[in-house]
Amino acid sequence: MPASIINGSELAKQIRADVAKEVAERIQAGKPKPGLATILVGDDPASHDYVRSKHKACNEAGIESFGYELPATASQKEVQDLVKRLNDDPKVNGILVQLPLPKGLDEEGVLSAIRLEKDVDGFHPINIGRLAQKGREPLFVPCTPAGCMVMLEKNLPKIEGKNAVVLGRSNIVGMPVALLLVRANATVTICHSKSTDLPGIIRQADILVAAVGRPEMVRGDWIKPGAVVIDVGINHVDDPTRPRGYRLVGDVNYAEAVEVAGAITPVPGGVGPMTIAMLLKSTLAAAKIANG
Ligand code: NDP
Repeated sequence: MPASIINGSELAKQIRADVAKEVAERIQAGKPKPGLATILVGDDPASHDYVRSKHKACNEAGIESFGYELPATASQKEVQDLVKRLNDDPKVNGILVQLPLPKGLDEEGVLSAIRLEKDVDGFHPINIGRLAQKGREPLFVPCTPAGCMVMLEKNLPKIEGKNAVVLGRSNIVGMPVALLLVRANATVTICHSKSTDLPGIIRQADILVAAVGRPEMVRGDWIKPGAVVIDVGINHVDDPTRPRGYRLVGDVNYAEAVEVAGAITPVPGGVGPMTIAMLLKSTLAAAKIANG
């Protein structure tokens, strides 16, 4: 039986509607509008697109957004001074630094400058450190990994005790997803470019989260029948039949995997939309920290 399709677009729409409703209620009750500031350094076109989508989503949810752009030549001090200014701005509840930063800037230094209570992207070293530690609670969790967990929770009656394989160990996706899965009491294996026998490891997985950035790398016969597959990958592949000349595919060969998995996220329309929905949720949470 083909897998059930995990519709990230629908789920994200619901989350965004819930956030918008709560924001409207807060404003009705006389509380200030939640605010998100974005910092974009340099002129990477994909980063510009992502930031634009984040502002649009804020607008639709009734969240105020403030966009700050700095040239790729900006110094470490200039970026951190901006972060510090936004830390002290009461209209700004959340600060998002669009990653990656241009070469030459110290990412950890910039992320560490964000006030913990405004770290809606969850990348402050203290929030990540707390995520990795037993009995500690991060104030915020990175948005894409948080979206993966919501999708898993909706599609698995129980994560506890399941074998989970995370393919990829980046700071942005793989590692925080793995940490969240450990917190949910899954037994987690993290694979990376030096792992051997990926098919053999992945065949043990009740849960597979693929975040490698390699188009359709995971084949259908690597997947355990009935597994829940979360495909984070967003890869452009040439396709002259499409108006833009390319199409988007995930890290999993969807056509093959859908015949084997129990549930699977499509690309596009899977994890992608969840990332922004989780960012709005975190911004609302930050507004609650600031204004009750
Ligand atoms: P990175 O390039 O930072 O990390 C890729 C990871 O995959 C690394 O850990 C790397 O291993 C591992 N890897 C690369 N090639 C192989 C291989 N052949 N076999 C096994 N492991 C391999 O990518 P990101 O984590 O930032 O992104 C991953 C994917 O997710 C991309 O397609 C990206 O576009 C997408 N993405 C989607 C988002 C969304 O909202 N849906 C948000 C963020 C990313 P090593 O550590 O050894 O180098």
